[in-house]
Amino acid sequence: MDLVEYQGKQYFARYGISISAGRVADTVDEAVAAADDVGYPVVVKAQVQVGGRGKAGGVKLAADAAEARQHASDILGLDIKGHVVRRLWIEHATDIAKEYYAGITLDRAAKLHLAMVSARGGIDIEQVADTEPEAIARLHINPLDGLERSAALQLVTDAGLDPEALEQAADILVQLYQCYTEGDADLVEINPLVLTTDGRVHALDAKVTLDDDAAFRHPEWSEFEEIGDIDPREALAKETGLQYIGLDGSVGIIANGAGLAMSTLDVVNQVGGSAANFLDIGGGANADVMANALEVINTDPNVRVILVNIFGGIVRCDEVAEGILTALGRVEIAAPIVLRLDGTNAVQARRMLEEHRSDQIIPELTMIGAAKRAVEIAGGPS
Ligand code: GDP
Ligand code: MN
Repeated sequence: MDLVEYQGKQYFARYGISISAGRVADTVDEAVAAADDVGYPVVVKAQVQVGGRGKAGGVKLAADAAEARQHASDILGLDIKGHVVRRLWIEHATDIAKEYYAGITLDRAAKLHLAMVSARGGIDIEQVADTEPEAIARLHINPLDGLERSAALQLVTDAGLDPEALEQAADILVQLYQCYTEGDADLVEINPLVLTTDGRVHALDAKVTLDDDAAFRHPEWSEFEEIGDIDPREALAKETGLQYIGLDGSVGIIANGAGLAMSTLDVVNQVGGSAANFLDIGGGANADVMANALEVINTDPNVRVILVNIFGGIVRCDEVAEGILTALGRVEIAAPIVLRLDGTNAVQARRMLEEHRSDQIIPELTMIGAAKRAVEIAGGPS
């Protein structure tokens, strides 16, 4: 789960990282009241889950209430890379001397955490990373050792931060590491981390991605969800406890088990099609689960065909068939369903479906056959 800036900053603040005082606002009037409250000059900032807000006109300085009003009305409703701004964060403006970058993420290939610091932070950090990767100092951190204060100091020194910023930046890096590990984040990023004209080091932006698999030990995360603009299909799937990831193809996929779901995606690709989603219904393929899964896929306007691929092991295929038939009675499904059932009680299941003779269900015996049929119905290989 990605947090928007102000949520990320609140997360940082719990670990002692210095941020500016600010308030959220959902209307122009609220924005002006917030600005009056935090004190001018202020920065009016769009709260959307996408970077590059500054360049898109989503971050503006205001010297007084009239300017705050103007910027708030310009930014609310603004479309930034497909994200419409519905909430603002108004904070007291900072006098910036230098903009740095600091981030920590997981380096899966190295199986270690990776901290990165640069003296060249700000809105062009991506370009710096592309053209001058040496301008970003890197440190791999073994999770068993953690990040020592001395190593943090060395890293910010290697990055070439200004001498007066080093001690504070090292402290922030240690706090950031704590936020990342104890806070169960996959990514924490401060860009810019600034040195103020009066010599303080301070987080002016926050990007935090929380590890969804750790949500069970963070009941407090539920407060972050309300404003997120997650894929409506994923929201529905989450509500019903399905493992669903939206993709942009036209073949809707339902399979039992993550491995089978992945290989179904591969096979659809192999025969020239493209999957609309990954959906693992897990072990319990009963009517409820199947109805929910079909419903989630049904909300996707790109889906032209649904490929259901079930291998019965513990789950019995006749139960799955029953589930699908019941589900079809409960939800109106737009697309035809190509169905491959194999494994425990597959013969009984096929017989049941035959007896039912639904025009909507197209049975196939093999996975590759089912994939080919589905792709054909979806309009052929692309
Ligand atoms: P992003 O473009 O989405 O990454 O948004 P940021 O929060 O990083 O803001 C973009 C840029 O706006 C920063 O790099 C700063 O240059 C500028 N900015 C943000 N807050 C302030 C502030 O308090 N004072 C000043 N002078 N500039 C700011
Ligand atoms: Mn930024």
